[in-house]
Amino acid sequence: MRTVWQRLLDRLAAGDGTLCADEVRRWDRVQWDKLFALGLLREIELAESVICDQCGDAHCAEIYWVTPGVKACFGCETEGVIDIEIDRLRQWRIDAGRVAGLVAASFELSSPVVVLVRERLWHIGRRRFGGRYRDVFFGIGAGMPVSDMSAAIRSSIGPGPALLLTVGCDGNPDGIPSGQHVLDLASLSRAEDGRVVVDLDYVEDRLTDSAPSSRKPVQSIPVPAGTSWRDVSIIVFDGMMQVTVRGKVQEIDFAEVGVDPQSQPIALLKLFAAARGTLPSDRISNTQDGSTPPKTRVRRLRTLLRSQIDIDGDPVTNHKKADTYSCAFEIRLADDDGYPTPAGASWIDFNVHERADGRLLVSTVEKQRGRGLTFDPTDDTVRAEVAETTREAIRTYSIDDIVPRSSSGKMTTEASALVALLRSGGRLQRAGDDMAVLSLARRLREWTGLAEDSLRFSESTSTWLASFSCSSGIAKKQRSGPNGNGEDVLA
Ligand SMILES: [Zn+2]
Repeated sequence: MRTVWQRLLDRLAAGDGTLCADEVRRWDRVQWDKLFALGLLREIELAESVICDQCGDAHCAEIYWVTPGVKACFGCETEGVIDIEIDRLRQWRIDAGRVAGLVAASFELSSPVVVLVRERLWHIGRRRFGGRYRDVFFGIGAGMPVSDMSAAIRSSIGPGPALLLTVGCDGNPDGIPSGQHVLDLASLSRAEDGRVVVDLDYVEDRLTDSAPSSRKPVQSIPVPAGTSWRDVSIIVFDGMMQVTVRGKVQEIDFAEVGVDPQSQPIALLKLFAAARGTLPSDRISNTQDGSTPPKTRVRRLRTLLRSQIDIDGDPVTNHKKADTYSCAFEIRLADDDGYPTPAGASWIDFNVHERADGRLLVSTVEKQRGRGLTFDPTDDTVRAEVAETTREAIRTYSIDDIVPRSSSGKMTTEASALVALLRSGGRLQRAGDDMAVLSLARRLREWTGLAEDSLRFSESTSTWLASFSCSSGIAKKQRSGPNGNGEDVLA
């Protein structure tokens, strides 16, 4: 017999979260009371109809109030007018969000539950299962195909590994990406001692078993003839990487190709990704335990990359003079989203200051609107107005975080242009088609997510002007007069 917990999940699965007293009456009272105490049932308005229990026909009958809120009845064609106890008209709605919260608690997930699709899909946290971290979701089928949930998950977390616990999914998990696993919540959970319990061992087993069966034979991803590493762009996720070759996107799941995501080459790959492709040798040797020299670590990473992506040439080049290693392809981390620009901010809200130690302080003013009283001294009146209060958020960056170094490990002309801009208080005397300035402007747009230009060119003065506030703690000796050669003198 299904437990009351399973019955509630069945109702959610059917897309009908409302329960009436007549059906609940037949359920186990003790179980019901315990679930009630978990706060996942909300009493709603009294029913407006009941199922007749008098004539054996079980027809639906409308409720008539003899004395509103006190005495009610319904009509039956064979049995006449039947009085009904008000208790029989009580109804409850299952709080699906609360169910998501209880499931999250049973997984010991501490992050907040986030609604992805209202009343249908929740991100309940992240946890390690079957040897890798997975984002965990709770989904209610009720007409929503599991493929839609899968797509919503993907657009939320990208192609990383996910565990989706569902009720009511006529789950045909074919066509679901290999990194996503769908399990039926009703069969692996129960309510017990005032909480929801999920059979974690079962989940662990299922996800561990699934790894070898879905393992593909190790095979490099195909690329068009003549492709070089420069045509490759890689985004590194926790358990996989997304490889774009000449516009074609392919995924390499580390576990599926038999590579431990915790291994040294993957750790190094992630380090390169965090630095957007270039690392000094000492950063490489300091990263993990062990005394493996940087040269060996890089060689192992090269072998791994060549085994996965069928391209000739060196994917990671060494610059002996600069003592750096650079990826010959574009690489970044999946969660490298740049600056957390507050909603509604524009360039005017940005302050960038170069500290004496070369670090950059980036601050934005976040506006908060609220009603307040203001005094107008011109006519001695006090008015109620919408007042804006502001809060300043300050973050510290290295210049490399904002404008990554070139593959040779050198500061780029864009980065130099940014430094020059800060040291000159936001004015740069350069040509209107100066490539370094134009490309810096594009980089700043990408980094902040702001659509408008951070730099404007003034034809009349032949000067680039920053739309954000620029300052520096490092003194600059400015050469007087225009200089057309794009070189700024830095002290
Ligand atoms: Zn009847």
